[in-house]
Amino acid sequence: MKSVYPQLLDGKALAQRIQDQLKAEVERLKSTYGRPPGLAVLMVGDNPASATYVRNKERACAKVGIASFGQHFPADVSQAEVEQAIHRLNHDPNVDGILLQLPLPEHLNSVYLLHQINPDKDVDGLHPLNLGRLLRGETGLRSCTPEGVMRLLREYQIDVKGKNAVVVGRSILVGKPIALMLLEADATVTIAHSRTQNLAELTRQADILIAAVGRPNLITADQVKPNAIVIDVGINRVTDAQGKSRLVGDVDFDAVRDMTQFITPVPGGVGPMTVTMLLQNTVFSYTRTNS
Ligand code: NAP
Repeated sequence: MKSVYPQLLDGKALAQRIQDQLKAEVERLKSTYGRPPGLAVLMVGDNPASATYVRNKERACAKVGIASFGQHFPADVSQAEVEQAIHRLNHDPNVDGILLQLPLPEHLNSVYLLHQINPDKDVDGLHPLNLGRLLRGETGLRSCTPEGVMRLLREYQIDVKGKNAVVVGRSILVGKPIALMLLEADATVTIAHSRTQNLAELTRQADILIAAVGRPNLITADQVKPNAIVIDVGINRVTDAQGKSRLVGDVDFDAVRDMTQFITPVPGGVGPMTVTMLLQNTVFSYTRTNS
């Protein structure tokens, strides 16, 4: 079914506009307080996807003038060494944000290490204190991907109040926090996961459908309500028949696009917003320390 006004939610363009504003803000902060905001991204091992994400984050920092204090550890680094690095950064007055790039190698306890990050520098919003603040609807550092999705919805003046929102995926990084944010914005929220029965029956009721799973083409056209708003968080690398590799989301974009009211592309939708919210959280953390 054709929608009257299918529209792409252009995360790339919005991210660029926010980064331009952040650049001006960072410049102003630097001249007022004598130093730029600082972000430390910690990476362990050589996971190629993680390396790309870390590189993108550091590039984005450089573009807006945020100083990078990243460290790259070998895959066999000890837990104590990573913990010491986190404690040093917790006390470093030039560092406002600390991000531990996940996943970590098996021998490291990521939950334990995430708990070591000073909650006021936890720009990924994964410390229990920040997750608790989110649960209570209090101000604080919030997980970047869900925050980016909410910002995108606001930018396109999509009022979620009273709408049926279905979130597919329940990770602590994406699914759960986004469900809480939608609830806070007065949506009626359903969370689906790998044990959900009759997923299609649920997704077909969704005015707002968020896919955060990590499976290409999980959401097909017959699972989408006509004129729905579809947010595709998934990032999957697939190889086509010609052997060419490309990124796709969790939604069968070509089949679904024309029946939606709004949809995010992959790439160029949620991804650029995630990086931008990380920069915004770092500036937020800096401002809170300095004001
Ligand atoms: P995750 O931790 O692996 O969680 C995946 C979730 O999907 C789990 O809750 C899982 O259910 C659920 N699931 C798996 N198979 C399912 C199925 N057949 N039907 C319904 N639910 C199913 O992944 P994540 O960290 O949340 O990331 C999800 C996706 O988003 C990935 O593709 C990731 O690369 C992408 N991502 C993108 C960004 C961005 O900036 N765009 C940022 C972060 C992540 P169970 O809980 O039952 O196992």
